Amino acid sequence: MKIALNTQIFLGAAVGIALGLGFAKLGADAEATRHGTYICGLLGNLFIDLLKMVLVPLVFTSISVGVANLRLHSQLHRVWLTTLGFFILSMALAIVLGLSAANLFEPGKGLSLDLFSNAAQGFAAKQMSFAEFIASFLHGLFVNPFAALAQANVLAIVVFALLLGIALVVGGDRYRNILLLMQEGLELMLRLVGWIMHLAPLGIMALLAKLLATQDTALLSSLAEFVAVIVGTTLLHGFVVLPLLLFLVTGMSPLKFFRGSREALVTAFATSSSSATLPVTLRCVEQHLHVKPGIAGFVVPLGATVNMDGTALYEASAALFVANLAGIELDLAQQLIVFFTTMVAAIGAPGIPSAGMVTMVMVLQSVGLPAEAIAILLPIDRVLDTVRTMVNVEGDMVGSLVVQRLTERQSDA
Ligand code: ASP
Repeated sequence: MKIALNTQIFLGAAVGIALGLGFAKLGADAEATRHGTYICGLLGNLFIDLLKMVLVPLVFTSISVGVANLRLHSQLHRVWLTTLGFFILSMALAIVLGLSAANLFEPGKGLSLDLFSNAAQGFAAKQMSFAEFIASFLHGLFVNPFAALAQANVLAIVVFALLLGIALVVGGDRYRNILLLMQEGLELMLRLVGWIMHLAPLGIMALLAKLLATQDTALLSSLAEFVAVIVGTTLLHGFVVLPLLLFLVTGMSPLKFFRGSREALVTAFATSSSSATLPVTLRCVEQHLHVKPGIAGFVVPLGATVNMDGTALYEASAALFVANLAGIELDLAQQLIVFFTTMVAAIGAPGIPSAGMVTMVMVLQSVGLPAEAIAILLPIDRVLDTVRTMVNVEGDMVGSLVVQRLTERQSDA
């Protein structure tokens, strides 16, 4: 009997979680744990390496072909504006949710930052002011494409591919051979992704087993309230807000959406990287959710680096958590600053594990909170990163469906 890939992935995830908990129970020094986590680390990394192998050619071809397929200039304009509008709206909703939850539950109140002084010791926060952040973000947009491709600099590749796609549209028939070449390249990459996906159940099992085996559960439980607030609100955003938005705009039932998107969601959960998940996300959106390649190829890769609902929600909540720990009350104006810096921080965070932690420094500093507090958040970040990356990726998939629907409607009208 042949088990469907989706089911295999879920089984892999379940076995991985059970295995990881088993290893954790045996203790880090047990022989089984050492050998087990070593093998799982090896397998998990291989899976991520395979995804990363196809990532760069995939992003490059999918964005240029995506943009070029939008053909008509006016349509390109519309898709572009709708996409940005959706990204900003969904991240704004996530931040408001994160801030509201932190104001309501006040995690960290009563605990003191002194308690964590050990963790904070030896941690030197990289100073990054808002202005510096903006400068380095802008500076990173336009990079020699060969360097960007070689270094897997996804944001710079996205920008170059966008420009190339526009040039292909403007040039029209003159470049049809290049366009054809890129289209075939894209198809070829998706074929490789299909092969890699056969390893997904094993890779996901290994990644989750290793993650759970190496977690410091004592630390997690001491920050339990904060962890619960973050996980709870992130899931609320992922399972209620985003599906509701999707339903209101497109009429698609949540069940249908989750059925089509689950491969990507589980992969995002296990890899904690929107970029590594991107090949799977594209596959789900095009093959299971039937978004046109023109829209999917544009919205999804851009979203993987720019649109991060989970990260935005997390950073906003975490800023208030740190304020509580430091015994500082943030007023409405300061929370508004957190709102804006969080938006920029989430946009600027690359889709790799714990990237949000780096841009978090900027959010803390924008309202004068101690950047050293990152040291408290870092040890529990690998666990929180799972859920937040899953919702980041979900946002991109919902975005592509919403953009498809809205631009379709406008062009029908
Ligand atoms: N790991 C997240 C992602 O890849 C980014 C983050 O750290 O928030 O989407």
